[in-house]
Amino acid sequence: MTDSNDRAKTTTAIVTGGSRGIGRAIALEMSRAGHFVVITYRSGAEAAEETLDLIRQAGGDGEAAAFDVADSAGAGEAMEALLSRHDAVEVLVNNAGIAADQLFVMMPERDWDAVIDTTLKGFYNMTKPVLKAMIPRKRGAVVSIASVAALVGNRGQANYSAAKAGLIGASRSVASEVARLGIRVNVVAPGLIETEMIEAAPVKEIKSRIPMARIGRPEEVAKVVRFLCSDDASYVTGQTLSVNGGMF
Ligand code: NDP
Repeated sequence: MTDSNDRAKTTTAIVTGGSRGIGRAIALEMSRAGHFVVITYRSGAEAAEETLDLIRQAGGDGEAAAFDVADSAGAGEAMEALLSRHDAVEVLVNNAGIAADQLFVMMPERDWDAVIDTTLKGFYNMTKPVLKAMIPRKRGAVVSIASVAALVGNRGQANYSAAKAGLIGASRSVASEVARLGIRVNVVAPGLIETEMIEAAPVKEIKSRIPMARIGRPEEVAKVVRFLCSDDASYVTGQTLSVNGGMF
């Protein structure tokens, strides 16, 4: 939760989906803030190694763990092992997410479940054990990555909007439960950000709805996450911060 000081160097930040895209940028920011960084991913080991290389080239250190955040048994086992090795986890960033867009009336149940489970089961499976580790230390920051779709809805994204809106509700509730224990819980809601996830999105159409008339960069999200995880945000909890070029 600290920025570039000796304390941070002995602490750990966990970034789910930290192997690529926005998660990679967040992992690099967390490393710059001085944390040892644990990145998790599901199957892209090569991308995870690349992220670790980038962290080390910049003078930091980290490790990678592969598991599905939505799989309670697998995530539980992986988190138990991780938390037994890292006793000063000060940051958790719930970034792993998927989209499976389709008009609601045509949406297969498996796509509804997959998106909801990755986001909300993922939040449960990751945040609960990490909070249990943070509570005795009375210190920590959790940031979850939602989306502008949670706030305004989006055609073809009923599953995604529902999952991300759920993340906001869960974060607010948990924030109020742990606020007195020195732990802050916030949400960042990005707009359209240049990653593999938006390869199939109608970028031209969406761009016309962005007042800044451009797509965001992963680093622009990561810097806001870093702020929320730092002591500069020591009185900020239960909030959702939009990073979307001015979309309403
Ligand atoms: P990417 O698709 O580029 O990366 C997704 C990351 O999440 C990968 O590391 C992937 O690992 C991991 N991941 C996906 N599912 C799981 C799972 N079940 N268990 C563990 N890891 C998983 O996504 P972005 O970087 O674009 O998005 C990051 C977050 O930001 C997501 O939550 C997304 O919803 C949100 N967001 C993105 C926006 C955008 O415009 N890009 C806009 C608003 C929000 P692997 O490669 O191994 O599968």
